[in-house]
Amino acid sequence: MSLFKKEPVDRLIRAKIRLMDSHPFLGLFSFNLRFMVDTHGMIEAYENTILDKEGKPAVSIPMGIDPFGNIYYIPEKLGAYDDDQLYFILAHEVCHQILKHGERVGNRIEQVWGLSTDIATNLILDEDGFQVPPGCLINRKYKGWLSEEIYDDIMEKAEKVPTPCGSGPCIPENCPNRNKRRGSQSSPGDQKCIRDAHIQGEDVPQSIKDLPQPDLDKARLDAFEYAKSIGRLPATIARRWGAELEPKIPWNILLRNMILLTIPKDFTYTRPSKKTQAYGVYLPSVKKEFVEVFFGVDTSGSIGKDELDSFMTEIENFDRTIHGAHFYIITCDAKVHEAEDYYSGSPKLSDFKPSGGGGTAFTPVFEFLRENYPRAKLLVYFTDMFGDQQSLKPERYAFQTIWVITPKHGSPPPFGYVIEL
Ligand SMILES: [Zn+2]
Repeated sequence: MSLFKKEPVDRLIRAKIRLMDSHPFLGLFSFNLRFMVDTHGMIEAYENTILDKEGKPAVSIPMGIDPFGNIYYIPEKLGAYDDDQLYFILAHEVCHQILKHGERVGNRIEQVWGLSTDIATNLILDEDGFQVPPGCLINRKYKGWLSEEIYDDIMEKAEKVPTPCGSGPCIPENCPNRNKRRGSQSSPGDQKCIRDAHIQGEDVPQSIKDLPQPDLDKARLDAFEYAKSIGRLPATIARRWGAELEPKIPWNILLRNMILLTIPKDFTYTRPSKKTQAYGVYLPSVKKEFVEVFFGVDTSGSIGKDELDSFMTEIENFDRTIHGAHFYIITCDAKVHEAEDYYSGSPKLSDFKPSGGGGTAFTPVFEFLRENYPRAKLLVYFTDMFGDQQSLKPERYAFQTIWVITPKHGSPPPFGYVIEL
């Protein structure tokens, strides 16, 4: 080895040290992450999920991350990137880990979640003073948005987002190909779109999972406290610390994540989706065959109009963002009033007027499901918890329950997952 030759791993370590110096929060945290040569083809497998019109990989990826704190790289590919680019890609990977993007995917379409978290990450780094290299995904419309919100927006409105450049998965705003596409010459060398691989936990070989795992939650907190103590905490991270990391995620996002985690993963891959074509990524579209959620809405006298409105707003958000869902709204005070079913995008939801006003019981809804919908998998119950929860017998019901409860509420339910408004 020549004394002056830069080995790939040396370049990465130098990037880490530079990060420590310029962005102590990211830098300190990065020392808990492990660099590994990708000998299992995980990056290549990820490349095969981002396809161009011809169905070929649209982009060459040098580096990737998994949810366990490993950063994988392909040594031969790093040579195509200069030190500034490598430094940025490293910061990008560290940021994914800090924001727990890998853990937050739920049942979302992985490729679209990948786009969303890449945009969110690059915008954070941009705001924190990093020079975002040309070719990285960025769309300033989403500045300050959570990845979940970007995802929902892409799923809903991607067709309206400006058309991307080239055949690669670039967002036009920051892409070198943008103007070149309109006729002027370009050389193949500067057509590069910079992407990284987001490797899912289930795709990581057991031999890697068996390695000692760093305590990333502690590392995150240590880096946060250290950067804060020296007055170098990035504003974006300080802001997101509450909203996205600790101590709690906004309840509506948590609820959507919980629903996505609970409903079965029943996607059928069919033809390319138009929605994602707006990003230049040709993904298989998904056909959810059967996503069914039951919403119980407490309409007893103790529920105020504002509370009822917020319950209905969240059901409307669900309707707007989870495509292909079939859902039911069951209103109940001391007895079941309405039991209406809807398909997502159904216009009649806005006409729904819940009725009630009496005392509170939950058992009627549980029994109603048991008798009429034995296939039910998930009940989301909006309530203030002033009812007969203690007399519910969980063993009678085959479905899971998420309770969404008002800030002033009665005693906690004896089972199920609780989200406080
Ligand atoms: Zn990424």
